[in-house]
Amino acid sequence: METFDYVIVGAGSAGSVLANRLSEDAGTTICVLEAGGRDWHPYIHLPAGFIKTFHMKSVNWAYQQEPGPYTGGRSIYAPRGKTLGGSSSINGHIYNRGQRQDFDTWAQMGNRGWGYVDILPYFKRMERRVGEGDETFRGREGPLTVTTMDWRDPLCEAFMAGAMSLGIPRNPDYNGAIQEGVSYCQRTIENGLRMSAAKAFLHPARKRPNVDVRTHAHVTNIIFEGKRAVGVRYLRGGKGGTPVEIRANKEVILSGGAYNSPQVLQLSGVGSPDLLRSHGIEVRHALPGVGEGLQDHYAPRSVARVKNIKTINELRKGWHLWVEALKWATTRRGLLSLSPTMVYCFWHSGETAESSDLQITFTPASYKEGVQGALEDLPGMTCTSWQQRPESRGYVRIRSSDPFAPPIIQTNYLTAELDRRVVVAGMKLARRLLKSEPLAPYYDYEDFPGPKVQSDEELLSAATQRGTTTFHPGCTCRMGPADSTWAVVDDQLRVHGLSGLRVIDASVMPRMISANLNASTLMIADKASDLIRGRSSPEAVRLAS
Ligand SMILES: Cc1cc2nc3c(=O)[nH]c(=O)nc-3n(C[C@H](O)[C@H](O)[C@H](O)COP(=O)(O)OP(=O)(O)OC[C@H]3O[C@@H](n4cnc5c(N)ncnc54)[C@H](O)[C@@H]3O)c2cc1C
Repeated sequence: METFDYVIVGAGSAGSVLANRLSEDAGTTICVLEAGGRDWHPYIHLPAGFIKTFHMKSVNWAYQQEPGPYTGGRSIYAPRGKTLGGSSSINGHIYNRGQRQDFDTWAQMGNRGWGYVDILPYFKRMERRVGEGDETFRGREGPLTVTTMDWRDPLCEAFMAGAMSLGIPRNPDYNGAIQEGVSYCQRTIENGLRMSAAKAFLHPARKRPNVDVRTHAHVTNIIFEGKRAVGVRYLRGGKGGTPVEIRANKEVILSGGAYNSPQVLQLSGVGSPDLLRSHGIEVRHALPGVGEGLQDHYAPRSVARVKNIKTINELRKGWHLWVEALKWATTRRGLLSLSPTMVYCFWHSGETAESSDLQITFTPASYKEGVQGALEDLPGMTCTSWQQRPESRGYVRIRSSDPFAPPIIQTNYLTAELDRRVVVAGMKLARRLLKSEPLAPYYDYEDFPGPKVQSDEELLSAATQRGTTTFHPGCTCRMGPADSTWAVVDDQLRVHGLSGLRVIDASVMPRMISANLNASTLMIADKASDLIRGRSSPEAVRLAS
Protein backbone atom coordinates (compact mmCIF):
# COMPACT_ATOMS: atom_id res chain seq x y z
CA MET A 1 0.00 0.00 0.00
CA GLU A 2 1.30 3.50 -0.80
CA THR A 3 2.31 5.40 2.30
CA PHE A 4 2.64 9.11 3.06
CA ASP A 5 3.23 10.94 6.31
CA TYR A 6 0.01 12.93 6.00
CA VAL A 7 -3.07 12.23 3.92
CA ILE A 8 -5.27 15.33 3.51
CA VAL A 9 -8.87 14.76 2.40
CA GLY A 10 -10.04 17.80 0.40
CA ALA A 11 -8.01 20.46 -1.42
CA GLY A 12 -10.25 23.37 -0.42
CA SER A 13 -9.45 26.47 1.60
CA ALA A 14 -8.05 24.57 4.58
CA GLY A 15 -6.53 21.64 2.66
CA SER A 16 -4.59 24.02 0.39
CA VAL A 17 -3.00 25.88 3.33
CA LEU A 18 -2.12 22.61 5.06
CA ALA A 19 -0.50 21.14 1.94
CA ASN A 20 1.63 24.24 1.67
CA ARG A 21 2.71 24.59 5.27
CA LEU A 22 3.29 20.90 6.01
CA SER A 23 5.37 20.46 2.86
CA GLU A 24 7.77 23.21 3.96
CA ASP A 25 9.48 20.35 5.82
CA ALA A 26 11.25 18.71 2.89
CA GLY A 27 11.45 15.34 4.63
CA THR A 28 7.67 15.10 5.10
CA THR A 29 5.48 13.45 2.45
CA ILE A 30 1.93 14.61 1.80
CA CYS A 31 -0.88 13.28 -0.32
CA VAL A 32 -3.90 15.51 -1.00
CA LEU A 33 -7.05 13.80 -2.24
CA GLU A 34 -9.65 15.95 -3.96
CA ALA A 35 -13.00 14.64 -5.17
CA GLY A 36 -13.27 17.35 -7.83
CA GLY A 37 -11.08 18.08 -10.83
CA ARG A 38 -8.38 20.64 -11.53
CA ASP A 39 -9.26 24.34 -11.33
CA TRP A 40 -8.61 25.06 -15.00
CA HIS A 41 -12.01 26.52 -15.95
CA PRO A 42 -11.77 30.23 -16.88
CA TYR A 43 -15.00 31.01 -14.96
CA ILE A 44 -13.17 30.11 -11.73
CA HIS A 45 -10.54 32.76 -12.31
CA LEU A 46 -12.63 35.54 -13.83
CA PRO A 47 -14.26 37.23 -10.82
CA ALA A 48 -17.62 37.72 -12.54
CA GLY A 49 -17.53 34.00 -13.40
CA PHE A 50 -19.02 33.54 -9.91
CA ILE A 51 -22.47 33.71 -11.42
CA LYS A 52 -21.61 30.78 -13.73
CA THR A 53 -19.80 28.50 -11.26
CA PHE A 54 -22.70 29.01 -8.86
CA HIS A 55 -24.58 26.21 -10.64
CA MET A 56 -21.78 24.49 -12.57
CA LYS A 57 -21.85 20.86 -11.46
CA SER A 58 -18.35 20.14 -12.78
CA VAL A 59 -16.90 22.31 -9.98
CA ASN A 60 -19.74 22.43 -7.47
CA TRP A 61 -21.37 19.83 -5.19
CA ALA A 62 -24.64 21.76 -5.72
CA TYR A 63 -26.36 20.44 -2.59
CA GLN A 64 -29.97 21.07 -1.60
CA GLN A 65 -30.89 21.68 2.02
CA GLU A 66 -33.96 20.20 3.68
CA PRO A 67 -36.91 22.60 4.05
CA GLY A 68 -36.85 24.08 7.55
CA PRO A 69 -39.57 25.41 9.86
CA TYR A 70 -38.87 28.98 8.65
CA THR A 71 -38.04 28.53 4.97
CA GLY A 72 -41.60 28.65 3.68
CA GLY A 73 -41.48 25.02 2.59
CA ARG A 74 -38.49 25.75 0.37
CA SER A 75 -35.38 23.62 0.01
CA ILE A 76 -32.55 26.15 -0.13
CA TYR A 77 -29.73 25.58 -2.59
CA ALA A 78 -26.27 25.06 -1.04
CA PRO A 79 -23.37 25.41 -3.48
CA ARG A 80 -19.93 24.09 -2.38
CA GLY A 81 -16.71 24.08 -4.34
CA LYS A 82 -15.62 20.73 -5.80
CA THR A 83 -12.28 21.48 -7.40
CA LEU A 84 -8.78 22.51 -6.33
CA GLY A 85 -9.30 25.44 -3.96
CA GLY A 86 -12.71 24.05 -2.92
CA SER A 87 -15.23 26.74 -2.07
CA SER A 88 -12.54 29.44 -2.31
CA SER A 89 -12.58 28.73 -6.07
CA ILE A 90 -16.28 29.56 -6.45
CA ASN A 91 -16.89 31.99 -3.58
CA GLY A 92 -17.77 35.69 -3.67
CA HIS A 93 -14.12 36.76 -2.97
CA ILE A 94 -14.99 38.74 0.17
CA TYR A 95 -12.22 38.92 2.73
CA ASN A 96 -13.70 39.48 6.17
CA ARG A 97 -12.15 38.16 9.37
CA GLY A 98 -14.79 38.84 12.01
CA GLN A 99 -14.70 40.55 15.38
CA ARG A 100 -12.30 40.22 18.26
CA GLN A 101 -15.11 38.89 20.47
CA ASP A 102 -15.81 36.01 18.06
CA PHE A 103 -12.47 34.38 18.75
CA ASP A 104 -12.39 35.34 22.41
CA THR A 105 -15.68 33.44 22.69
CA TRP A 106 -14.07 30.37 21.11
CA ALA A 107 -11.36 30.56 23.78
CA GLN A 108 -13.97 31.04 26.50
CA MET A 109 -15.68 27.85 25.34
CA GLY A 110 -12.58 25.94 26.45
CA ASN A 111 -10.28 26.26 23.46
CA ARG A 112 -6.81 27.33 24.55
CA GLY A 113 -4.83 29.38 22.05
CA TRP A 114 -7.80 30.49 19.94
CA GLY A 115 -8.43 33.93 21.46
CA TYR A 116 -8.08 36.96 19.19
CA VAL A 117 -4.56 37.95 20.23
CA ASP A 118 -3.42 34.37 19.59
CA ILE A 119 -4.92 34.02 16.12
CA LEU A 120 -4.29 37.56 14.83
CA PRO A 121 -0.63 36.73 13.94
CA TYR A 122 -1.91 33.98 11.61
CA PHE A 123 -4.27 36.32 9.78
CA LYS A 124 -1.32 38.68 9.40
CA ARG A 125 1.27 36.20 8.21
CA MET A 126 -1.04 34.82 5.54
CA GLU A 127 -2.04 38.00 3.79
CA ARG A 128 -0.53 40.50 1.43
CA ARG A 129 -2.80 43.43 2.09
CA VAL A 130 -2.77 45.97 -0.70
CA GLY A 131 -4.29 49.26 0.43
CA GLU A 132 -5.30 50.81 3.69
CA GLY A 133 -4.57 49.03 6.94
CA ASP A 134 -2.90 49.52 10.30
CA GLU A 135 0.19 47.30 10.60
CA THR A 136 -0.99 46.12 14.03
CA PHE A 137 -3.72 44.19 12.28
CA ARG A 138 -2.69 43.73 8.65
CA GLY A 139 0.01 41.68 6.95
CA ARG A 140 1.92 42.83 3.88
CA GLU A 141 4.11 39.90 2.95
CA GLY A 142 1.96 36.77 2.88
CA PRO A 143 0.86 34.74 -0.16
CA LEU A 144 -2.85 35.73 -0.07
CA THR A 145 -3.46 39.03 -1.83
CA VAL A 146 -6.29 41.15 -0.39
CA THR A 147 -7.33 44.24 -2.36
CA THR A 148 -10.17 46.73 -2.02
CA MET A 149 -12.88 47.09 -4.65
CA ASP A 150 -11.65 49.70 -7.12
CA TRP A 151 -14.74 50.11 -9.33
CA ARG A 152 -16.44 53.40 -8.62
CA ASP A 153 -20.17 53.48 -9.16
CA PRO A 154 -22.50 56.40 -8.32
CA LEU A 155 -24.99 54.01 -6.71
CA CYS A 156 -22.35 52.57 -4.36
CA GLU A 157 -21.18 56.08 -3.47
CA ALA A 158 -24.79 57.16 -2.82
CA PHE A 159 -25.40 54.07 -0.70
CA MET A 160 -22.40 54.86 1.49
CA ALA A 161 -23.43 58.51 1.76
CA GLY A 162 -26.89 57.24 2.74
CA ALA A 163 -25.43 55.05 5.46
CA MET A 164 -23.49 58.00 6.82
CA SER A 165 -26.65 60.10 6.75
CA LEU A 166 -28.14 57.51 9.14
CA GLY A 167 -25.19 57.85 11.52
CA ILE A 168 -23.16 54.85 10.31
CA PRO A 169 -19.52 55.95 10.03
CA ARG A 170 -17.23 55.31 7.07
CA ASN A 171 -14.66 52.71 8.14
CA PRO A 172 -11.45 52.54 6.10
CA ASP A 173 -10.70 48.96 7.27
CA TYR A 174 -13.31 46.58 8.67
CA ASN A 175 -10.54 44.04 9.24
CA GLY A 176 -8.70 46.48 11.49
CA ALA A 177 -9.33 47.67 15.02
CA ILE A 178 -13.10 47.84 14.61
CA GLN A 179 -15.55 46.22 12.22
CA GLU A 180 -18.43 48.69 12.44
CA GLY A 181 -19.12 51.12 9.62
CA VAL A 182 -19.52 51.22 5.86
CA SER A 183 -16.90 50.79 3.14
CA TYR A 184 -16.06 49.18 -0.17
CA CYS A 185 -15.41 45.44 0.11
CA GLN A 186 -12.03 43.85 0.55
CA ARG A 187 -11.55 40.94 -1.82
CA THR A 188 -9.22 38.07 -2.58
CA ILE A 189 -8.65 39.34 -6.12
CA GLU A 190 -5.33 40.28 -7.69
CA ASN A 191 -4.93 41.95 -11.10
CA GLY A 192 -8.53 41.19 -12.00
CA LEU A 193 -8.19 37.46 -11.19
CA ARG A 194 -9.47 35.34 -8.29
CA MET A 195 -6.97 34.60 -5.55
CA SER A 196 -8.25 31.20 -4.45
CA ALA A 197 -6.59 29.12 -1.74
CA ALA A 198 -5.30 26.88 -4.52
CA LYS A 199 -3.62 29.80 -6.23
CA ALA A 200 -2.14 31.24 -3.04
CA PHE A 201 -1.15 27.99 -1.31
CA LEU A 202 -1.72 24.73 -3.19
CA HIS A 203 -0.19 25.43 -6.59
CA PRO A 204 3.08 26.72 -5.10
CA ALA A 205 3.16 23.60 -2.87
CA ARG A 206 2.58 21.27 -5.84
CA LYS A 207 5.93 22.31 -7.22
CA ARG A 208 7.61 20.60 -4.25
CA PRO A 209 8.61 16.94 -4.76
CA ASN A 210 7.08 15.89 -1.42
CA VAL A 211 3.49 16.85 -2.37
CA ASP A 212 1.21 14.56 -4.38
CA VAL A 213 -2.17 16.08 -5.29
CA ARG A 214 -4.72 13.66 -6.74
CA THR A 215 -7.92 14.96 -8.35
CA HIS A 216 -11.11 12.97 -9.00
CA ALA A 217 -10.21 11.03 -5.85
CA HIS A 218 -13.41 10.67 -3.82
CA VAL A 219 -12.66 9.48 -0.29
CA THR A 220 -15.27 7.01 0.89
CA ASN A 221 -13.97 6.22 4.38
CA ILE A 222 -11.12 6.28 6.86
CA ILE A 223 -9.22 3.05 7.56
CA PHE A 224 -8.71 2.33 11.26
CA GLU A 225 -6.60 -0.07 13.28
CA GLY A 226 -8.42 -0.11 16.59
CA LYS A 227 -8.85 3.52 17.57
CA ARG A 228 -6.04 4.74 15.30
CA ALA A 229 -6.66 6.16 11.82
CA VAL A 230 -4.03 4.67 9.52
CA GLY A 231 -5.21 5.63 6.05
CA VAL A 232 -8.15 6.21 3.73
CA ARG A 233 -9.98 4.47 0.95
CA TYR A 234 -10.93 6.41 -2.18
CA LEU A 235 -12.34 5.80 -5.62
CA ARG A 236 -9.99 6.90 -8.39
CA GLY A 237 -12.16 8.59 -11.00
CA GLY A 238 -15.06 9.11 -8.58
CA LYS A 239 -18.30 7.12 -8.64
CA GLY A 240 -17.77 3.72 -10.25
CA GLY A 241 -14.00 4.26 -10.23
CA THR A 242 -11.18 2.02 -9.02
CA PRO A 243 -10.93 1.56 -5.23
CA VAL A 244 -7.54 2.62 -3.84
CA GLU A 245 -6.20 2.50 -0.28
CA ILE A 246 -3.38 4.68 0.96
CA ARG A 247 -1.72 4.82 4.34
CA ALA A 248 -0.79 7.73 6.55
CA ASN A 249 2.30 7.19 8.69
CA LYS A 250 1.48 10.11 10.89
CA GLU A 251 -2.03 11.45 10.41
CA VAL A 252 -5.17 11.52 8.34
CA ILE A 253 -6.53 15.08 8.09
CA LEU A 254 -10.13 15.71 7.10
CA SER A 255 -10.53 19.04 5.27
CA GLY A 256 -13.67 18.19 3.33
CA GLY A 257 -15.65 21.22 4.54
CA ALA A 258 -18.61 21.64 6.87
CA TYR A 259 -20.89 19.24 4.99
CA ASN A 260 -18.44 16.56 3.86
CA SER A 261 -16.07 16.17 6.82
CA PRO A 262 -18.86 14.99 9.14
CA GLN A 263 -20.20 12.84 6.29
CA VAL A 264 -16.83 11.04 5.90
CA LEU A 265 -16.62 10.54 9.69
CA GLN A 266 -20.13 9.07 9.81
CA LEU A 267 -19.45 6.80 6.82
CA SER A 268 -16.36 5.60 8.72
CA GLY A 269 -18.35 4.67 11.82
CA VAL A 270 -17.62 7.79 13.89
CA GLY A 271 -20.70 9.62 15.11
CA SER A 272 -24.01 9.09 16.84
CA PRO A 273 -24.49 5.32 17.35
CA ASP A 274 -28.22 5.56 16.60
CA LEU A 275 -27.61 7.32 13.29
CA LEU A 276 -24.86 4.92 12.24
CA ARG A 277 -26.86 1.80 13.15
CA SER A 278 -29.93 3.11 11.33
CA HIS A 279 -27.82 2.97 8.14
CA GLY A 280 -26.21 -0.38 8.94
CA ILE A 281 -22.80 1.15 9.69
CA GLU A 282 -20.71 -0.50 12.38
CA VAL A 283 -19.93 1.90 15.24
CA ARG A 284 -16.16 2.40 15.37
CA HIS A 285 -16.31 5.25 17.86
CA ALA A 286 -19.37 6.84 19.43
CA LEU A 287 -19.13 10.63 19.11
CA PRO A 288 -22.63 12.14 19.09
CA GLY A 289 -21.44 15.66 18.20
CA VAL A 290 -20.39 14.66 14.66
CA GLY A 291 -22.52 16.63 12.20
CA GLU A 292 -24.53 18.35 14.94
CA GLY A 293 -24.55 22.10 15.58
CA LEU A 294 -24.56 23.32 11.95
CA GLN A 295 -24.79 27.11 11.70
CA ASP A 296 -25.07 29.44 8.71
CA HIS A 297 -26.08 33.01 7.94
CA TYR A 298 -29.60 33.52 6.58
CA ALA A 299 -30.23 36.52 4.38
CA PRO A 300 -33.27 38.07 2.77
CA ARG A 301 -32.30 40.33 -0.15
CA SER A 302 -34.20 43.64 -0.23
CA VAL A 303 -34.53 45.00 -3.75
CA ALA A 304 -35.44 48.44 -5.14
CA ARG A 305 -36.05 49.28 -8.77
CA VAL A 306 -33.68 51.92 -10.11
CA LYS A 307 -34.19 54.93 -12.40
CA ASN A 308 -31.92 57.54 -14.06
CA ILE A 309 -28.84 55.27 -14.13
CA LYS A 310 -27.75 51.89 -15.52
CA THR A 311 -27.25 49.01 -13.10
CA ILE A 312 -25.22 45.85 -13.64
CA ASN A 313 -28.43 44.15 -14.79
CA GLU A 314 -28.26 46.15 -18.04
CA LEU A 315 -24.49 46.53 -18.29
CA ARG A 316 -23.94 42.79 -18.61
CA LYS A 317 -26.06 42.57 -21.78
CA GLY A 318 -25.54 43.19 -25.52
CA TRP A 319 -22.80 45.54 -26.67
CA HIS A 320 -22.10 46.69 -23.08
CA LEU A 321 -20.78 43.21 -22.34
CA TRP A 322 -18.44 43.29 -25.33
CA VAL A 323 -17.04 46.62 -24.14
CA GLU A 324 -16.56 45.18 -20.66
CA ALA A 325 -14.88 42.04 -22.02
CA LEU A 326 -12.44 44.20 -23.98
CA LYS A 327 -11.81 46.33 -20.90
CA TRP A 328 -11.03 43.25 -18.82
CA ALA A 329 -8.80 41.74 -21.50
CA THR A 330 -6.76 44.91 -21.82
CA THR A 331 -6.77 46.36 -18.29
CA ARG A 332 -8.08 43.56 -16.01
CA ARG A 333 -10.64 46.08 -14.74
CA GLY A 334 -14.33 46.81 -15.19
CA LEU A 335 -17.48 44.76 -14.74
CA LEU A 336 -15.88 41.34 -15.24
CA SER A 337 -13.40 41.99 -12.43
CA LEU A 338 -16.19 42.55 -9.90
CA SER A 339 -17.37 40.45 -6.98
CA PRO A 340 -21.10 39.91 -6.50
CA THR A 341 -20.98 42.29 -3.51
CA MET A 342 -19.43 45.74 -3.57
CA VAL A 343 -20.14 47.60 -0.38
CA TYR A 344 -20.15 46.29 3.19
CA CYS A 345 -21.88 47.79 6.17
CA PHE A 346 -21.74 46.48 9.74
CA TRP A 347 -24.26 47.87 12.18
CA HIS A 348 -26.51 47.21 15.17
CA SER A 349 -30.01 45.74 15.20
CA GLY A 350 -30.82 47.82 18.26
CA GLU A 351 -29.30 49.83 21.04
CA THR A 352 -28.67 46.77 23.16
CA ALA A 353 -26.34 45.02 20.72
CA GLU A 354 -22.88 45.70 22.10
CA SER A 355 -20.98 45.07 18.86
CA SER A 356 -22.49 45.14 15.40
CA ASP A 357 -24.79 42.16 14.94
CA LEU A 358 -25.90 42.95 11.40
CA GLN A 359 -23.94 42.50 8.22
CA ILE A 360 -25.39 44.39 5.29
CA THR A 361 -24.18 44.37 1.72
CA PHE A 362 -25.00 46.52 -1.27
CA THR A 363 -24.80 45.78 -5.00
CA PRO A 364 -26.09 47.87 -7.91
CA ALA A 365 -27.72 44.73 -9.34
CA SER A 366 -30.62 42.42 -8.50
CA TYR A 367 -31.22 38.71 -8.81
CA LYS A 368 -34.10 36.53 -9.94
CA GLU A 369 -35.98 35.24 -6.87
CA GLY A 370 -33.33 36.91 -4.69
CA VAL A 371 -30.85 34.10 -5.44
CA GLN A 372 -27.41 35.14 -6.67
CA GLY A 373 -27.35 32.68 -9.59
CA ALA A 374 -29.16 34.83 -12.21
CA LEU A 375 -29.45 38.61 -12.73
CA GLU A 376 -32.81 40.28 -13.37
CA ASP A 377 -33.65 42.14 -16.56
CA LEU A 378 -35.12 45.31 -14.99
CA PRO A 379 -32.69 47.77 -13.35
CA GLY A 380 -32.33 47.02 -9.68
CA MET A 381 -30.21 47.41 -6.58
CA THR A 382 -29.96 44.94 -3.71
CA CYS A 383 -29.35 45.40 -0.02
CA THR A 384 -28.78 42.06 1.66
CA SER A 385 -28.93 41.87 5.44
CA TRP A 386 -28.10 39.09 7.85
CA GLN A 387 -27.60 38.43 11.50
CA GLN A 388 -23.92 37.99 12.21
CA ARG A 389 -24.10 35.59 15.15
CA PRO A 390 -27.16 33.36 14.82
CA GLU A 391 -28.16 31.03 17.63
CA SER A 392 -30.14 28.50 15.56
CA ARG A 393 -28.37 25.21 15.00
CA GLY A 394 -29.06 22.30 12.70
CA TYR A 395 -27.20 19.21 11.53
CA VAL A 396 -25.55 17.26 8.74
CA ARG A 397 -26.37 13.54 8.71
CA ILE A 398 -25.71 10.82 6.18
CA ARG A 399 -28.72 9.91 4.10
CA SER A 400 -27.50 6.35 3.59
CA SER A 401 -24.30 4.31 3.71
CA ASP A 402 -23.68 5.23 0.05
CA PRO A 403 -20.76 7.71 0.03
CA PHE A 404 -22.16 9.33 -3.11
CA ALA A 405 -25.58 10.08 -1.61
CA PRO A 406 -25.68 13.78 -0.65
CA PRO A 407 -25.89 14.25 3.11
CA ILE A 408 -29.05 15.52 4.81
CA ILE A 409 -28.48 19.21 5.50
CA GLN A 410 -30.89 20.82 7.95
CA THR A 411 -29.76 24.27 9.07
CA ASN A 412 -32.89 25.14 11.06
CA TYR A 413 -32.62 28.78 10.04
CA LEU A 414 -34.47 31.25 12.29
CA THR A 415 -35.61 28.66 14.82
CA ALA A 416 -34.09 30.75 17.65
CA GLU A 417 -36.26 33.70 18.63
CA LEU A 418 -33.29 36.11 18.68
CA ASP A 419 -32.48 35.22 15.07
CA ARG A 420 -35.98 36.10 13.89
CA ARG A 421 -35.84 39.41 15.72
CA VAL A 422 -32.45 40.41 14.32
CA VAL A 423 -33.28 39.36 10.76
CA VAL A 424 -36.43 41.52 10.86
CA ALA A 425 -34.37 44.44 12.23
CA GLY A 426 -31.94 43.92 9.36
CA MET A 427 -34.71 44.19 6.79
CA LYS A 428 -35.92 47.41 8.38
CA LEU A 429 -32.42 48.88 8.26
CA ALA A 430 -32.02 47.73 4.62
CA ARG A 431 -35.23 49.56 3.77
CA ARG A 432 -34.02 52.76 5.46
CA LEU A 433 -30.70 52.53 3.65
CA LEU A 434 -32.31 52.08 0.24
CA LYS A 435 -34.67 54.98 0.92
CA SER A 436 -31.94 57.32 2.16
CA GLU A 437 -31.72 60.84 0.78
CA PRO A 438 -28.50 60.35 -1.27
CA LEU A 439 -30.06 57.40 -3.13
CA ALA A 440 -33.32 59.29 -3.81
CA PRO A 441 -32.35 60.38 -7.38
CA TYR A 442 -32.04 56.71 -8.35
CA TYR A 443 -34.67 55.06 -6.16
CA ASP A 444 -37.77 54.18 -8.14
CA TYR A 445 -39.78 51.87 -5.87
CA GLU A 446 -39.36 48.96 -3.48
CA ASP A 447 -39.72 45.63 -5.23
CA PHE A 448 -38.97 43.29 -2.33
CA PRO A 449 -40.35 42.94 0.29
CA GLY A 450 -42.67 45.62 -1.14
CA PRO A 451 -44.45 48.59 0.43
CA LYS A 452 -47.38 46.49 1.69
CA VAL A 453 -45.05 44.57 3.98
CA GLN A 454 -44.82 46.70 7.14
CA SER A 455 -45.35 44.89 10.44
CA ASP A 456 -42.70 42.67 12.05
CA GLU A 457 -44.85 39.63 11.30
CA GLU A 458 -45.12 40.59 7.63
CA LEU A 459 -41.38 41.19 7.38
CA LEU A 460 -40.64 37.84 9.01
CA SER A 461 -43.04 36.13 6.64
CA ALA A 462 -41.27 37.78 3.66
CA ALA A 463 -37.91 36.65 5.06
CA THR A 464 -39.08 33.06 5.29
CA GLN A 465 -40.42 33.17 1.71
CA ARG A 466 -37.26 34.53 0.08
CA GLY A 467 -34.25 34.34 2.42
CA THR A 468 -31.29 32.29 1.31
CA THR A 469 -27.98 31.05 2.61
CA THR A 470 -24.95 33.34 2.41
CA PHE A 471 -22.92 30.14 1.92
CA HIS A 472 -21.28 30.08 5.35
CA PRO A 473 -21.96 26.65 6.85
CA GLY A 474 -19.74 25.73 9.78
CA CYS A 475 -19.67 24.20 13.26
CA THR A 476 -20.42 20.56 12.35
CA CYS A 477 -17.30 19.09 14.03
CA ARG A 478 -16.96 21.60 16.82
CA MET A 479 -13.78 22.23 18.76
CA GLY A 480 -14.26 21.96 22.52
CA PRO A 481 -13.38 20.07 25.68
CA ALA A 482 -13.60 16.27 25.79
CA ASP A 483 -16.15 16.31 28.61
CA SER A 484 -18.67 18.39 26.64
CA THR A 485 -21.59 16.65 24.94
CA TRP A 486 -21.05 18.42 21.63
CA ALA A 487 -17.32 18.65 20.87
CA VAL A 488 -15.78 16.53 18.12
CA VAL A 489 -12.18 17.80 18.19
CA ASP A 490 -9.95 19.22 20.92
CA ASP A 491 -8.17 22.55 20.70
CA GLN A 492 -5.37 20.87 18.68
CA LEU A 493 -8.14 19.76 16.26
CA ARG A 494 -7.57 16.04 17.07
CA VAL A 495 -10.73 13.94 17.05
CA HIS A 496 -11.69 13.11 20.64
CA GLY A 497 -11.09 9.50 21.58
CA LEU A 498 -9.20 8.56 18.39
CA SER A 499 -5.59 8.97 17.35
CA GLY A 500 -3.95 9.86 14.05
CA LEU A 501 -7.00 11.86 12.97
CA ARG A 502 -7.75 15.58 12.84
CA VAL A 503 -10.49 17.67 11.30
CA ILE A 504 -9.24 21.00 9.97
CA ASP A 505 -11.74 23.18 8.11
CA ALA A 506 -14.79 25.39 8.72
CA SER A 507 -16.55 22.58 10.57
CA VAL A 508 -14.37 22.94 13.68
CA MET A 509 -15.63 26.44 14.49
CA PRO A 510 -17.40 26.08 17.82
CA ARG A 511 -19.66 29.04 17.12
CA MET A 512 -20.54 31.15 14.12
CA ILE A 513 -18.44 34.28 13.72
CA SER A 514 -19.40 37.77 12.58
CA ALA A 515 -18.00 37.22 9.10
CA ASN A 516 -17.90 35.27 5.88
CA LEU A 517 -15.86 32.15 6.59
CA ASN A 518 -13.01 31.94 4.09
CA ALA A 519 -10.49 34.14 5.94
CA SER A 520 -11.01 32.39 9.27
CA THR A 521 -10.91 28.91 7.68
CA LEU A 522 -7.54 29.74 6.15
CA MET A 523 -6.39 31.04 9.54
CA ILE A 524 -7.55 27.82 11.27
CA ALA A 525 -5.51 25.71 8.84
CA ASP A 526 -2.46 27.90 9.19
CA LYS A 527 -2.55 27.67 12.97
CA ALA A 528 -3.22 23.93 12.77
CA SER A 529 -0.11 23.47 10.63
CA ASP A 530 1.98 24.85 13.50
CA LEU A 531 0.20 22.56 15.96
CA ILE A 532 0.93 19.54 13.78
CA ARG A 533 4.55 20.48 13.20
CA GLY A 534 5.07 21.19 16.89
CA ARG A 535 6.17 24.72 16.10
CA SER A 536 5.64 27.47 18.60
CA SER A 537 2.98 30.00 17.66
CA PRO A 538 4.01 33.45 16.50
CA GLU A 539 4.07 35.87 19.41
CA ALA A 540 0.57 37.00 20.40
CA VAL A 541 -0.27 40.55 19.32
CA ARG A 542 -0.40 43.07 22.16
CA LEU A 543 -3.58 45.09 21.95
CA ALA A 544 -5.03 47.76 24.15
CA SER A 545 -8.02 46.18 25.92
C1 LIG B 1 -20.99 30.31 -3.52
C2 LIG B 1 -20.15 30.62 -2.30
C3 LIG B 1 -19.84 31.94 -2.00
C4 LIG B 1 -19.06 32.24 -0.88
N1 LIG B 1 -18.64 33.52 -0.68
C5 LIG B 1 -17.73 33.77 0.28
C6 LIG B 1 -17.09 35.04 0.35
O1 LIG B 1 -17.32 35.92 -0.47
N2 LIG B 1 -16.20 35.24 1.35
C7 LIG B 1 -15.90 34.28 2.27
O2 LIG B 1 -15.12 34.53 3.19
N3 LIG B 1 -16.49 33.06 2.20
C8 LIG B 1 -17.34 32.79 1.21
N4 LIG B 1 -17.84 31.53 1.07
C9 LIG B 1 -17.50 30.53 2.09
C10 LIG B 1 -16.05 30.06 2.04
O3 LIG B 1 -15.56 29.99 0.72
C11 LIG B 1 -15.97 28.70 2.74
O4 LIG B 1 -16.46 28.86 4.05
C12 LIG B 1 -14.57 28.13 2.81
O5 LIG B 1 -13.99 28.08 1.54
C13 LIG B 1 -14.64 26.74 3.45
O6 LIG B 1 -13.38 26.14 3.42
P1 LIG B 1 -13.23 24.60 3.79
O7 LIG B 1 -11.80 24.28 3.69
O8 LIG B 1 -13.93 24.36 5.08
O9 LIG B 1 -14.08 23.81 2.70
P2 LIG B 1 -13.97 23.83 1.11
O10 LIG B 1 -13.18 25.00 0.65
O11 LIG B 1 -15.35 23.69 0.60
O12 LIG B 1 -13.10 22.54 0.78
C14 LIG B 1 -13.53 21.22 0.92
C15 LIG B 1 -12.89 20.40 -0.19
O13 LIG B 1 -13.00 19.03 0.13
C16 LIG B 1 -13.39 18.32 -1.04
N5 LIG B 1 -14.07 17.10 -0.61
C17 LIG B 1 -15.24 17.01 0.06
N6 LIG B 1 -15.55 15.71 0.31
C18 LIG B 1 -14.56 14.98 -0.21
C19 LIG B 1 -14.31 13.59 -0.28
N7 LIG B 1 -15.17 12.69 0.23
N8 LIG B 1 -13.18 13.15 -0.90
C20 LIG B 1 -12.29 14.05 -1.42
N9 LIG B 1 -12.50 15.39 -1.39
C21 LIG B 1 -13.62 15.85 -0.79
C22 LIG B 1 -14.30 19.30 -1.76
O14 LIG B 1 -14.48 18.98 -3.12
C23 LIG B 1 -13.57 20.62 -1.53
O15 LIG B 1 -12.61 20.87 -2.53
C24 LIG B 1 -18.62 31.19 -0.03
C25 LIG B 1 -18.93 29.86 -0.34
C26 LIG B 1 -19.66 29.57 -1.47
C27 LIG B 1 -19.94 28.12 -1.80
